[in-house]
Amino acid sequence: MSTILDILLVGAGPANLSVLSYLDEAGALKSGHNIRLVEKRENASWHPGLALPTSTLQVSLLKDLAFLRNPTSPYTFFNYLKEEKLLYQFMHLNTYYPSRNLFSNYLEWIASKFQNFISYNCEVRKLRNIPSAHGKDILEVTLTNDAGETEIIKTRQLVLSQGHKPFIPEVLLSESKQIIHSSQFLNRTSAKALSAESHVVIVGRGQSAGEIIRFLLEKTDVGKVSVISRDFLFKSTDANPFVNDIYTYPRAIDFFSYDIAGRKNMLSGLRNTNYATVTDDVLSAIYEQTFSDRIDQRQRLYLYPYSLIKAAEEQANKIAITLQQTQPDKTAVTITADLIVCATGFENTLHKSLINSLKPECIDDDLVVKDDFSVQFGAPASPDIFLINHSQAQHGPTEHTLAGISERGKVIGDALIKNMRHCERETGSNGTLPDALNNKDYKIVTH
Ligand SMILES: Cc1cc2nc3c(=O)[nH]c(=O)nc-3n(C[C@H](O)[C@H](O)[C@H](O)COP(=O)(O)OP(=O)(O)OC[C@H]3O[C@@H](n4cnc5c(N)ncnc54)[C@H](O)[C@@H]3O)c2cc1C
Repeated sequence: MSTILDILLVGAGPANLSVLSYLDEAGALKSGHNIRLVEKRENASWHPGLALPTSTLQVSLLKDLAFLRNPTSPYTFFNYLKEEKLLYQFMHLNTYYPSRNLFSNYLEWIASKFQNFISYNCEVRKLRNIPSAHGKDILEVTLTNDAGETEIIKTRQLVLSQGHKPFIPEVLLSESKQIIHSSQFLNRTSAKALSAESHVVIVGRGQSAGEIIRFLLEKTDVGKVSVISRDFLFKSTDANPFVNDIYTYPRAIDFFSYDIAGRKNMLSGLRNTNYATVTDDVLSAIYEQTFSDRIDQRQRLYLYPYSLIKAAEEQANKIAITLQQTQPDKTAVTITADLIVCATGFENTLHKSLINSLKPECIDDDLVVKDDFSVQFGAPASPDIFLINHSQAQHGPTEHTLAGISERGKVIGDALIKNMRHCERETGSNGTLPDALNNKDYKIVTH
């Protein structure tokens, strides 16, 4: 086996598991090539800090890792249900929106099928180009495990799907254990220690905020939940079928063909389909619980719309927050919390610390990512790096969701296989790559 990897995938989230499952469907994992996936966490669970028992998937389960590219794939959600003997009972739930915990179990089931290819507790820290005698540069990759040990490996191709970095507003950045990001909610002891005397403040008004509020009101006896937003509370997610038509891979291909102004226009018009909005089922559940509290002659939910946080100060195991209301007048309010949960979203920056040193091409601070999801570099010898989940400006709103994940897995998988073939021709090695690219069963059909 070569000491240079043919493919290194970074991150065992749904995106890369979809690419890996496609490589297997296409026969590339059995072809003697050297393929590895590294994940910095200890398993492939899906957003474990927000795996609330009351939360469900926000896309149809048919948008799983494989079904839409190949309904007969062994890696569909249905096949997972069948193998785990859950199919009949799941059918009688009459839903296309399984719990997020069940979907996470499905992802771990897929990862378990590829355990020989995946290394956990293994984080990519640095990338460096090194020239190769044959064609494209090779990438030198610095890996660190949880014991702090470092390993340096080489790869011809890299698929980067790291997800996004939790964002906390500057005024709330603190060492305090009582200020956490929503993505850590279930992992933090400060959130586990809540009681009827506790006051939890949620900052933000999007889906994560809504899901945590629902969970606190329905499943815990927490005494008081306050919600702070600089805007109106709450706005509902537009998930009508015409919108869902846009969240499909063929429409992402259309989006790619638009000019920059057209792309920007479409993205801004679709903001209420995914950003700072909450799905109707969650809003109804919160409202019903608030009504039920009212019948019990108590109030637990307090809303602070149109409010800016001006200061936060730790005071004897509590945090005092000063708010400035922007409507109807400029009243200042101080509230004291036992726990502040910043449901303030994510920054789209993780990939930059790895890739920027390789000097990729950019437009308006966005990396240029081609139609096959490879990053565009100025130098022709630059290595093949595929970037997932960071090119919404070019691939459209679908890119940050599960919606086009299975077809994208195939597009990237085909490009990886094609590059491996090309490399074999250049180096004279005789790999036994499959003929998946010529197989019409695997072609993506556009509308
Ligand atoms: C709570 C939550 C719920 C969501 N629910 C939905 C939903 O219902 N429907 C929907 O369409 N979208 C949903 N999304 C959006 C969702 O993030 C994406 O759809 C999907 O998880 C993206 O997959 P990914 O594999 O690109 O990234 P992720 O799932 O974020 O996985 C990235 C992985 O890379 C690993 N990693 C990062 N850096 C490194 C490194 N340097 N070295 C090694 N490993 C690394 C991370 O540990 C992580 O496991 C949700 C997002 C969140 C936060």
